[in-house]
Amino acid sequence: MALHPLKPCPFCGSQDIRRADNILTDKDCPNITGPTEYYFFCNQCHASSKRCPAPEASLLFWNERTKVPKPRLDWLDYLFFATYIILASFILWQVLDAVRPMISFH
Ligand SMILES: [Zn+2]
Repeated sequence: MALHPLKPCPFCGSQDIRRADNILTDKDCPNITGPTEYYFFCNQCHASSKRCPAPEASLLFWNERTKVPKPRLDWLDYLFFATYIILASFILWQVLDAVRPMISFH
């Protein structure tokens, strides 16, 4: 196996990364063992890599695992949101103004 140093967990920073070897069995014939899948997982927060048929590949997947950035609102989003609300209420006002004479009983 090629020497790839295991990177720490991208989520919690733990160095306690372990490899899981799952022997896939058919639930209808549990005595017959199927192929093995490998993945790495963090023993702290249980984040795991993609499951692969080869341990080397799962290691590469673990090392490429990056933190998914949390979407967060910044001032530009609030500006867009405010503009949207103002525009939407303006359009609604116009539509109501156009419709009002049609539904009026006078
Ligand atoms: Zn972790």
